[in-house]
Amino acid sequence: MSLKPIERIRTKISCWKPIKDMLNWGRAWSLWWVHYETGCCCPEIMSLVAARFDHERLGAIPFPTLRECDLIIIEGVVTKKMAKRLRMIYDQMPDPKYVIALGDCAITGGFWWDSYSVVQGVDKVVPVDVYVPGCPPRPEQILQGFRLLQKKIMEGK
Ligand code: SF4
Repeated sequence: MSLKPIERIRTKISCWKPIKDMLNWGRAWSLWWVHYETGCCCPEIMSLVAARFDHERLGAIPFPTLRECDLIIIEGVVTKKMAKRLRMIYDQMPDPKYVIALGDCAITGGFWWDSYSVVQGVDKVVPVDVYVPGCPPRPEQILQGFRLLQKKIMEGK
């Protein structure tokens, strides 16, 4: 049996507003994330997952396999050589997927913004949903980044 009629019904149902809202609510409160880490923002991420900030109360969990993740947090400098790998990782993640650019290095290239080898902002490689500025950003800021992303998802943006 062809899957096309089933696919059509599925698409129609998921376009119905209450269903769409429910799906977005579920997505917003079950973010499975992986981090692409190349710099010293990492200790802030470690604090985020520890007991004091306990980001899991937002339904977010760090996950080791990117093919099951719907969020990638990019921290640190991305070089032009690494940009292709970052894109490859992003392309392997299932849809819908989201990106947080964490820290000045990821957002603009940071201290190395005018270097010949550095990407001046990861938004030149992958679409970014939320920017969390700072060098490094505090865990509270990262939590705020999660909340902004959840708001965006729930609004269907
Ligand atoms: S933004 Fe600052 S803390 Fe984060 S990776 Fe760059 S230099 Fe390190």
